Amino acid sequence: MTPAFSLCVYCGSRPGAEPRFGEAAVQVGRWIGEHGGQLVYGGGNNGLMGVLADATLAAGGRVVGVIPRSMVEREWAKRDCTELHIVDNMHQRKSLMAERADAFLALPGGIGTFEEFFEAWTWRVLSFHEKPVGLLDLDGYYAPLLTFLRQSVRNGFMNDWQMDMLTVDSDAATLLQQLVQSAAFTTRMDTSQI
Ligand code: AMP
Repeated sequence: MTPAFSLCVYCGSRPGAEPRFGEAAVQVGRWIGEHGGQLVYGGGNNGLMGVLADATLAAGGRVVGVIPRSMVEREWAKRDCTELHIVDNMHQRKSLMAERADAFLALPGGIGTFEEFFEAWTWRVLSFHEKPVGLLDLDGYYAPLLTFLRQSVRNGFMNDWQMDMLTVDSDAATLLQQLVQSAAFTTRMDTSQI
């Protein structure tokens, strides 16, 4: 069955220092599955990535993993994904993930998550795509980053409209709903069941 929507989620390949990070990943995966959606992610079994994929599968969602060949062992490629794509390099990984997504969401994570999130956002700003980009500011995890970004606006290196292209919320369900609704607006998908 065709999924109701396809959400690309970036998140830590580590579990984070406290259980609340894993709990948020479970909540997001469960929401995707329970709403008939599809998760597109980096295809690993480590950290929040593995937790997110397991929760999506357990709730009946589809999971599309995309992982470079050289990282299959390092990130423990998740063999029970609905679709697992083993690609040649990081560029192929990112472009396939972007292609398969209706919207992007970053959960707490580290350097890899930041890189992927900024790419999805900058591509949106440059009009390479029109898909919504969200940031889950779980318990203020991203507050220092958001403060820095607003400082960049004040210093004239960014604009308010670039910030406005980002959807930020501290509540996962609220943010997911918003992203899926705006993705429906840009892709004209039918969200009557969501
Ligand atoms: P991290 O947030 O550092 O735990 O990494 C999360 C995910 O981002 C992992 O699957 C990394 O392989 C991935 N990642 C790291 N660097 C990049 C990059 N330059 N482009 C795309 N994904 C990356």
